Amino acid sequence: MIVSTITTLGIQCSKCGEMQFRTLSMFGFSHFNKENYYCSCGALFMTITSFERGVYSIEYPCIYCGDSHYIATKRGKIWGENILQLGCSDKGLPIGYIGPRQQVINCCRGIKKEFVQFAYQLVNDEEKEPEFDIFFIVYAVMEKLGKMVERGQLGCRCGNKNLAVEILPDRIELICEACRAVGIIYTDNKEILHIIDGMGSISLEENMTWLLNDSDKGHHLLKK
Ligand SMILES: [Zn+2]
Ligand SMILES: [Zn+2]
Ligand SMILES: [Zn+2]
Repeated sequence: MIVSTITTLGIQCSKCGEMQFRTLSMFGFSHFNKENYYCSCGALFMTITSFERGVYSIEYPCIYCGDSHYIATKRGKIWGENILQLGCSDKGLPIGYIGPRQQVINCCRGIKKEFVQFAYQLVNDEEKEPEFDIFFIVYAVMEKLGKMVERGQLGCRCGNKNLAVEILPDRIELICEACRAVGIIYTDNKEILHIIDGMGSISLEENMTWLLNDSDKGHHLLKK
């Protein structure tokens, strides 16, 4: 029996949305070996850990839900003839694949397209041609805002925690209907995602408008 010792991994980075491909050698893994894989943007996109008896765990941050997913699998599923799908268990959509190179490349072609179709429901702008980068940023910002709401880190200084959100073609507006405070997050540049990650929480200022964009860092209000 011929066993393949090389496999290809293709996955969508949860931080920048770009597809990443790597070749994995079986010999790179000994017992209890942990390998981290990083995107060209610097973000971790996968951790593979090998255990006894050819069992591996694969952990990958998810572009759809912002959390990590885990699967436990056998060596033969990673270095085998069949393709292994890495998906979002929450949304039921694929994020990546592991397997023979050509099959992985073919399967990965549809991933960005599916993402755009999914995110399209959010933006709901029929005038606009679905464009991956824009959809990705809007989706990622909304997902980050959702996490902040869950943790009680999004609100207004007037005490209102229930902000209205409006998605516009180039920006997302947060509106406090109690005091008319407004927060504007520009969604034309991926850098905005790093800025939001660095903020931790967002607090609107009573009766003020604040702007958040990558070129105008001095203007955003940072509250911890
Ligand atoms: Zn990336
Ligand atoms: Zn997910
Ligand atoms: Zn307010």
